[in-house]
Amino acid sequence: MAAKAITRLANRASIFSPLPRRCFTSSSEVNSHAPPFPPREDLTKRCVQWVFLGCPGVGKGTYASRLSNLLAVPHVATGDLVRDELASSGPLSSQLSEIVKHGQLVSDEIIISLLSERLVAGEAKGELGFILDGFPRTIKQAEILEGVTDIDLVINLKLREDVLLEKCLGRRICNQCGGNFNVASIDIKAENGSPGIVMAPLLPPANCMSKLITRSDDTESVVKERLRIYNEMTQPVEEFYRRRGKLLEFNLPGGIPESWPKLLQALNLDDYEDKRSAAA
Ligand code: AMP
Repeated sequence: MAAKAITRLANRASIFSPLPRRCFTSSSEVNSHAPPFPPREDLTKRCVQWVFLGCPGVGKGTYASRLSNLLAVPHVATGDLVRDELASSGPLSSQLSEIVKHGQLVSDEIIISLLSERLVAGEAKGELGFILDGFPRTIKQAEILEGVTDIDLVINLKLREDVLLEKCLGRRICNQCGGNFNVASIDIKAENGSPGIVMAPLLPPANCMSKLITRSDDTESVVKERLRIYNEMTQPVEEFYRRRGKLLEFNLPGGIPESWPKLLQALNLDDYEDKRSAAA
């Protein structure tokens, strides 16, 4: 990368640095089996800086958005920032459209610029903490993020690749309310020691039914390319966080009804949800 671009990246990255370290500190005993969770009594003060990793279609958006509601921190999805930029027909949109259409990654420079703008705008509104979804996707992005702020925890969602493809092909979005749905009905039997997996469709309410659209990059050939790019560019990011003791591996056992309670349990948040519902 040209020196000028690096300077601009570094300048952009420095926008992260005013973000004060507001959340709990990682424990020194952290490893991939015992991620850096705070003791339960700290949960009311929790203001997390978390990252979701995982292949396209695994459900990062679904679980990040649920956790963001539960913990009252913003869910920041870089894919959404890219789609907003595309929809705005701004100066970057024709360049981005070609990249996204082919399942390629947007340059680190552009994505950092979009993300810094989003975080700075959020900070101006008083937002604290974040759950990042879809960032970092390259080692360079991970290094920049690590250099400017302290990520508490990285949740790596996992599903087998044939299920990922079916889920991407079944994904539908309501073009009015923005809700995410899925028409795929997955029922894979256990075989050769691998567990079966059942995921019921996540159907929209009647008023969204006629407004459903499919993402232009959710076609079979583009999903396969996105999976290939994930394995090449993003899988090393898993190792980057594993080495730092920040990675929580989570194999999704099925659809939302089975996975959500187990994820909360893995995050030590099961009690937290009960208390929140009781207080509501
Ligand atoms: P997603 O909704 O996360 O699947 O992202 C949609 C598209 O946005 C991706 O296929 C990329 O083209 C682009 N994108 C999102 N996040 C990043 C990132 N961190 N780095 C590069 N490109 C990204």
